[in-house]
Amino acid sequence: MKLNGNSLDEVLKKEALSDEDIVFLLGLTEPEDCKKLQEAAYKKTTELMGNKVYYRGLIEVSNVCTVDCRYCGIRKDNHGVHRYTLSKEEILEAAMFAAENGYGSICLQAGERNDPKFVSFISDCLREIHRKTVSESLPNSLGITLSLGDQTKEVYEEWAEASGNRQNLRYLARFESSNQELFDFLHNVLHKKSKQLEHRLQCLQWLKECGYQVGTGVMIGIPGQKLEDLCSDIRLYQKLEADMIGMGPYLMSEGGDLKSLGQTENKKLFQLSLNMIAVTRLVMGNINIAAATAMQVLDPQGRETAISYGANVVMPNLTPLQYREGYQLYDKKPGLKDDPETFGLKLEERIQSKGREVGWNLSGSSRKWLNRTGNSQEGYDGKKGAGEQFVVWIKSSES
Ligand code: SF4
Repeated sequence: MKLNGNSLDEVLKKEALSDEDIVFLLGLTEPEDCKKLQEAAYKKTTELMGNKVYYRGLIEVSNVCTVDCRYCGIRKDNHGVHRYTLSKEEILEAAMFAAENGYGSICLQAGERNDPKFVSFISDCLREIHRKTVSESLPNSLGITLSLGDQTKEVYEEWAEASGNRQNLRYLARFESSNQELFDFLHNVLHKKSKQLEHRLQCLQWLKECGYQVGTGVMIGIPGQKLEDLCSDIRLYQKLEADMIGMGPYLMSEGGDLKSLGQTENKKLFQLSLNMIAVTRLVMGNINIAAATAMQVLDPQGRETAISYGANVVMPNLTPLQYREGYQLYDKKPGLKDDPETFGLKLEERIQSKGREVGWNLSGSSRKWLNRTGNSQEGYDGKKGAGEQFVVWIKSSES
């Protein structure tokens, strides 16, 4: 396959990809072409990020949400969902499990709420998690990723302070699509504007100012989305200087109000999602990229395959088993019955099958963020990237 006389090999060797190159790579479908893209992304990941895959133990704190994103199974107007909020004790128990089992970091995720009671509940949990998880193997306590939606800058600052661990602090807020029309289509029901792209971008800016490692991402395969839109999404990642990316395929939800539109055929959607991960790695370089659980819906090997295409973060679910049915943003969510006691180890075998190893007891900060802020992290095993500051090894656990 060729683009303007350049072979795929030549495009993959370029230092900087043009928009045209990106669209070309995203659209690859022939197995041998996709394999070349995969190998280039995997190689770049090894060079810039090392050989480790980091665990973020996912704790789905609450499925109560005040927003009505149209694709989402737990949106406010879906009255068929039994709502829950974990107690502080349940959250702490899951966090302690992560700390004691070498996970290095956790992710607290919930539907969006802005009320003072919820804000202080999260602050409380963060303080306790910090207090209880400082140990010899985690001298700064568990790393924290928050995925709690749009908040004020003051709230972001309050949570950063409460975490007690600003050097391992992250926030994930996906903008879902940089195309204003697609964004509005996904989020705004007639006469009921529930989310604004501009505001989400403002939140990402505030998070950066508060010192978080900033994560964002999009949906891949939204009805009406073009490859050019995905290219613009990657350009926006660059503009935002994102430290981490969490992307997933657009999957239908019975509880959403877009189900009549269906979704792209699985095999096609899977390859497009893999291509998007690989091209994001090639363009963005030394950031963290998550292998989304949603990839498992499309292919039983989805998560591991995403790792072979350049992802380096996975999120084993640590939500207590009895609540997991209640947290389904899309249908057929996998892992509802995965036992935390054994899952992390089983996953390790699957990660090793892709030539990677688990970064046990490491928080796995984004190297882009480390370079930008001058922070250092032990356990990093990547090589020095062109023109970048070298990150030193300190000891075998995170500093
Ligand atoms: S995607 Fe998040 S904010 Fe939107 S409805 Fe679902 S839980 Fe709420």
